[in-house]
Amino acid sequence: MKKPAMRHPEDDQILRFADGELPARVARKIRTHLNACWECRAQLQEIEGTISNCVGYRKNILKAIFLLRRLRGSTSIKGSPR
Ligand SMILES: [Zn+2]
Repeated sequence: MKKPAMRHPEDDQILRFADGELPARVARKIRTHLNACWECRAQLQEIEGTISNCVGYRKNILKAIFLLRRLRGSTSIKGSPR
């Protein structure tokens, strides 16, 4: 049975790995660990899922704000005093 190359990385390290913020040497160690460890791989997927949810959420919010501003803009043109 294959043994993980190191003990489980910290949540913070997995997050930074997902973000590509780790130095190449550390990232390589974590990648090796992830190849051997289901638990951390699942955690990485969870983090990536959360990140993409946040990105989607943010996009929707920005879109809503944009539409709202456009709506307000169009009504304020009509009713705006000089
Ligand atoms: Zn692990």
